Amino acid sequence: MLFKKSAQISHGSLITFYILYLAYIVNDTFFKSNKIQESLWELIKFELFYLDGACLNCAKCCRYIDLNIFEKQIKNRSDYNREIKNHSLYKRFKPVFEDDGSIACFCCSWLDAENKCSNYEGRLPLCRNYPLSSFILDDYTYDYCGFKIARKNINPKINNLSLKKRVEKVKKLNNLLF
Ligand code: SF4
Ligand code: SF4
Repeated sequence: MLFKKSAQISHGSLITFYILYLAYIVNDTFFKSNKIQESLWELIKFELFYLDGACLNCAKCCRYIDLNIFEKQIKNRSDYNREIKNHSLYKRFKPVFEDDGSIACFCCSWLDAENKCSNYEGRLPLCRNYPLSSFILDDYTYDYCGFKIARKNINPKINNLSLKKRVEKVKKLNNLLF
């Protein structure tokens, strides 16, 4: 897997953080735009945290793929059959069914016997961006993944309640006790 190198830089900038923080507060107080808040949160998140570690080549991210690849919840075989017609690129991802017929996750059929991608150059953006995408969307990386969320070397004071909650959530989800 491959992702932006900047996501792996361990030092943050207090000046950049406080500029983003100010913009966050202005939006939170006056404009109240969810779209702006999400964009600022993503930037702030990468000013405070980074992806540490390295890939263990376990290929679990190719075997236990999240259900949101279709941008909506796919719960069962009929949902899958309906959605896959419009998402032919995702045909490589095969649903893994639970006993009750629900879909537990997706497993990629491009994974070869040696745990390698059989068409690495042709992999999708969701493969290229993992596990950065996991941190952006869900605020954490999976326990089994060799990449972990770590704290950068700045510790700014955050009084805004909504931002404080978001930062605390990242810390809790990633077992960052500080
Ligand atoms: S296309 Fe390759 S990198 Fe992407 S999930 Fe499948 S095996 Fe993994
Ligand atoms: S789950 Fe993490 S450690 Fe395992 S192959 Fe994927 S990126 Fe690498």
